[in-house]
Amino acid sequence: MSRAKERCDSLGEGRFTDMPGLLFRPYLGPAHKAAVEQLTAWMEEAGMSVRLDPSGSLIGRYEGTGMKTLLIGSHIDSVKDAGRYDGPLGIMLGIDCVAALHQVGRRLPFAIEVVAFGDEEGSRFPSAMLCSRAMAGQIDDKSLEIDGLEGALNDWGLDRASFLNAKRDPADLVGYIEAHIEQGPALEAEGLALGIVTGIAAQKRYSVRFVGIAGHAGTNSMALRKDALPAAAEAILKIEEIGRAGPPDMVATVGRMEVLPGAPNVVPGDVRFSVDVRAGTAEPRDKAAEEIERALAEIAERRGLGLAVRLLHDLPPAPCDPAMMERLERAVTAIGQPVHRLVSGAGHDAMAFADMTPTAMLFLRCEGGISHNPLERVFPADVDLARDALLAFLDILSEEYDG
Ligand SMILES: [Zn+2]
Repeated sequence: MSRAKERCDSLGEGRFTDMPGLLFRPYLGPAHKAAVEQLTAWMEEAGMSVRLDPSGSLIGRYEGTGMKTLLIGSHIDSVKDAGRYDGPLGIMLGIDCVAALHQVGRRLPFAIEVVAFGDEEGSRFPSAMLCSRAMAGQIDDKSLEIDGLEGALNDWGLDRASFLNAKRDPADLVGYIEAHIEQGPALEAEGLALGIVTGIAAQKRYSVRFVGIAGHAGTNSMALRKDALPAAAEAILKIEEIGRAGPPDMVATVGRMEVLPGAPNVVPGDVRFSVDVRAGTAEPRDKAAEEIERALAEIAERRGLGLAVRLLHDLPPAPCDPAMMERLERAVTAIGQPVHRLVSGAGHDAMAFADMTPTAMLFLRCEGGISHNPLERVFPADVDLARDALLAFLDILSEEYDG
């Protein structure tokens, strides 16, 4: 039981990591190559024909009676000092579903392709989800102008010129489904093994800078100083308040701050920090982002400070497909589990496909909500439930499939 979990565990060490003592499997590195070899063996054993696509994603195909294809995907790369399940678990569950069909010689009215994306985390190059975005046709040649990418591709017998040929034709696809650990504490708090993702959150990220005047901490009286740090402190509390006032799926975070010049005897003249705002839909996020911008301007004005606010990125929400979600709900019900819907606050490969083909995501509970950390844990029984839910989903999709 829980072969999928055991397989993730076995990919957590030895030649499957590029750093001794911790798990680090960056895109197109030696550990990625070793993982591709191992996955190839497991995919072939499950009855799939296996190929590497032009972006370095490994694809195992199990033919159906019809020509169209359902993609079951997730990523095989990892962050530095990663857990063992973020990414690989979704691939192993896909392989186990195909293995179950293959074992009884069953063919569905569509082919299944299990996809192990090479880059999701962006831990080798300063660009994330290169492989899924290439497959979904979301990147252009310009986004491949990345130092070192060409050489890394060549090492694998791939080349940059054909990278974009990884793009799939949506007319050939039935849809995309991904199983992934939640990477948050919501399912555990509800006592649930599984959750149905309604969509991936809309995200805005800013860099903010308050500029005052640096001066001697002993000689600048409280009345006369232009201290940038209390302004930032006030702003951070306000950002938290705005985040709390939003819907339950709203989050607002200041995760990084730099205080300059950064000495105990100097009034801070320059403080820079990040603001990250997310919500399931764009409207409440944008409302919160506007409120935050107004609050920052008010604080700077009142305190006589300079203010610079720069929007770094603005990602639209990636909603899951209602019909696919509803089938997944029936699948979860069919295996005796309660239906619980939730928004994904984290980005996933699925978001690249949401505009291209009907997309669904299944979340699995992870202990303590801990992820991107070697302490990442899943419960074996939950992994088995996820496999059963995916198999029930394939049954339902096959019954309702009309080519
Ligand atoms: Zn992931």
